[in-house]
Amino acid sequence: MPELRTDPISGRLVIIAPERAARPDTFRVPPRPPPASTGSCPFCAGNESMTPPEIARIGAGAPDTPGWRVRVVPNLYPIVGHPTDGAPESVAGAHEVVVLSPEHAGHLGRLGEERAVDVFTAIRDRVGHLLDSGLQHAQAFVNQGRAAGSSIDHPHAQIVGLDFVPPAVHAEQDRFLAAGRDLVAEALAVHRSSDLSVADGPAVAWCPPASSSPFEILVAHRSTRARFDQAPDTEVAAVARASREALARVNAVLGDVDYNLTIHTAPRDAEPGGHWYVRVAPRISIVAGFEQSTGVFVNVVPPKVAAGAAP
Ligand SMILES: [Zn+2]
Repeated sequence: MPELRTDPISGRLVIIAPERAARPDTFRVPPRPPPASTGSCPFCAGNESMTPPEIARIGAGAPDTPGWRVRVVPNLYPIVGHPTDGAPESVAGAHEVVVLSPEHAGHLGRLGEERAVDVFTAIRDRVGHLLDSGLQHAQAFVNQGRAAGSSIDHPHAQIVGLDFVPPAVHAEQDRFLAAGRDLVAEALAVHRSSDLSVADGPAVAWCPPASSSPFEILVAHRSTRARFDQAPDTEVAAVARASREALARVNAVLGDVDYNLTIHTAPRDAEPGGHWYVRVAPRISIVAGFEQSTGVFVNVVPPKVAAGAAP
């Protein structure tokens, strides 16, 4: 029987309808060769002059030269403007690109552990900078692959700093306040040693019972902290390793599937409470007419099956 579930963190209503799918490997994508750089990729090492001047890097070398492991540049086609642009009707903010690796095929599930830590550390520092500069909220995300919304194959994250708090972020804060407890810590404690667990340690990864898409994974640190940008190095590193592990497991089951990875953090002036975390959502189901018209998601792979499929 299909089952209606509510995700306490996202607030999403989900119908788990396993009868509609065959098996987890139904969603396995056929093997494909790693994308090769065409030489015109603006994010490949050696092509630094093809981007606007660099904002930050992790690694060696002078700005806008090779030697970096992670590189941050302004987005050439920003969806928000810079606060000093001045036009009263403009959407103030900042839109940055974090190039995850100098290698064209170096996506997060393929990077080594310490390289994944570099990536999360660079993103944390930029989120902190944007909030310190006066913006209200900073949303960091990775769109990996065309189905996930990426227009450039070279693995990269984006950070959008906003001078307002987006409704979904606001609503999540309200759910924490209304519950009067840390919803992420609660889920982590329940699921870390259950059959929904994907990785356990200082940071924990699990498939939420009300996953809105097959193989959705949440990753969070055991310590309670609302803001990603205020997390110390050890905490960021633990979440980076667990996120990389979660992606590697997804890749082992599904192949190099496209996915969105989003980093959820409290806004700058939020009420106390909240718990920063990472959500990985493989793009293997389509948000179609029913989902668009009702806001109710349909997931054909029970989260226990997804968690159990990982090697
Ligand atoms: Zn490239």
